[in-house]
Amino acid sequence: FKVKKPQNEPILFYEIGSPERTALKGKLKELKEKSIEIPVIIGGEEIYTGNTGECVIPHNKEHKLATYHMAGEEEVQKAIEAAAKAKKEWAEMPWQHRASIFLKAAELLAGPWRATLNAATMLGQSKTVYQAEIDSACELIDFLRFNTYFMTEIYNDQPISTNESWNRLEYRPLEGFVFAVTPFNFTAIGGNLPIAPALMGNTVVWKPSGTAVYSNYFVMKLLKEAGLPDGVINFIPGSGSMIGNEVFKNEDFAGVHFTGSTAVFNTMWKTIGENIDRYKTYPKIVGETGGKDFIFAHKNVKINQLATAMIRGAFEYQGQKCSAASRVYIPKSIWSDLKDKLIQEVATIKMGNAEDFDSFMAAVIDQKAFDRVKGYIEYAKDADDADIIAGGGCDDSVGYFVEPTIILTTNPHFKTIKEEIFGPVLTVYLYDDEDFEEALKICNESTPYGLTGSIFSQDRSVLIKMEKALGQAAGNFYINDKPTGAVVGQQPFGGARASGTNDKAGSKLNLLRWTSPRVIKETF
Ligand code: GLU
Repeated sequence: FKVKKPQNEPILFYEIGSPERTALKGKLKELKEKSIEIPVIIGGEEIYTGNTGECVIPHNKEHKLATYHMAGEEEVQKAIEAAAKAKKEWAEMPWQHRASIFLKAAELLAGPWRATLNAATMLGQSKTVYQAEIDSACELIDFLRFNTYFMTEIYNDQPISTNESWNRLEYRPLEGFVFAVTPFNFTAIGGNLPIAPALMGNTVVWKPSGTAVYSNYFVMKLLKEAGLPDGVINFIPGSGSMIGNEVFKNEDFAGVHFTGSTAVFNTMWKTIGENIDRYKTYPKIVGETGGKDFIFAHKNVKINQLATAMIRGAFEYQGQKCSAASRVYIPKSIWSDLKDKLIQEVATIKMGNAEDFDSFMAAVIDQKAFDRVKGYIEYAKDADDADIIAGGGCDDSVGYFVEPTIILTTNPHFKTIKEEIFGPVLTVYLYDDEDFEEALKICNESTPYGLTGSIFSQDRSVLIKMEKALGQAAGNFYINDKPTGAVVGQQPFGGARASGTNDKAGSKLNLLRWTSPRVIKETF
């Protein structure tokens, strides 16, 4: 069974006068006009529990987009039952038909749904038009198409048969249901974490992030329109710890697909461990967690290229990508030129309303994020061994705005160069040129994470040295480029160490986690 490798969905740029710009503007207006009610969706049934939360616009926090209903213990049980009920028919459906449903969703999203999902992401998660387009349009479309392609490759991968024995590998889904727990920062991840196991024949209980319920609800609606049968993916916003406790004590729990913090993922492992005797099968635990992503520069670099990577890597989507650059190691000899360039570039950044098509940055996700990021900036302001050389301002009067901030420190173990901040804060450490190797060691060892990282040099032998020295420091490694913006099919994404199980999103590796293969030998 041969399928052509998909092409990545081309990015639209929403130029003035373009039809896509008109459509998107229309959708933004329409969605803002009317606050909606978002139900829990179980087995296709919409349930309004009355226990509610609010979706607001982070850059305009008084504007309510929706009231969403949260699952209680009873709904979690119902969702697990609905997943069990839908399982047989879904797992037995010819896989080509499962594929068709998700490929149709990709077509709908590339066409009529694009404006809706982009508008929902811009409003609900405060993404600029470009950041929304590369996420809720291109990346989600790519996940849908590439997953299908990789699934066919997996199913085609069969063992050797001989004249006497006919051997088959049957890629069964897991025995039980999969629990998807998704983050606020990418609508595409919100979609992909339940979709990937579902494509492989599993049914799913999906807990979306409370701050991305708005766009994620539209993903559910899109899948429904594409023909996804009821009960295959059950949508249950609500308290993470309560839902986790219910799910992890269920004997049919067969796997978790997670993106979020290291602390939450560690708690999940422990809870799953405590409950291990209950389960019918060893659960698959797949997670992408925190990061403290680096840029490490050698003295022989193109200054403009490095400055652009720092700005884009650290500040796009307000530094709220797991992959965002947040610590930088610079040789002293290039600092003066680089600093001038950085300050010049930061001064041109337009931060504002995500709905203005020329904003480069908008607001951080919520009050909690604002307070946390502000706390780090204040810590740096007061510290003797750090200076704020750009930004530093925070204002939550209208929305949760934090200026793009660059901290310079003389201490390679300064708080902001070690801890994950998840906001637009970049900390720079200057090393003596002759201490290049020692600085590489510090970069490798000073955080527990291993998600993304970039190295900069024009010298090939130095690049090789850096690549070796930072061997386990990043699962996604970039040379002379920013550490963000992995493209499905081009740079499969994921990290190790405290950054996750490194089962590369949107790859064969990931899809294989959602199968439990059976080998069948027949003799004649
Ligand atoms: N894949 C995204 C990137 O390369 C990051 C995903 C995440 O934040 O989890 O920028």
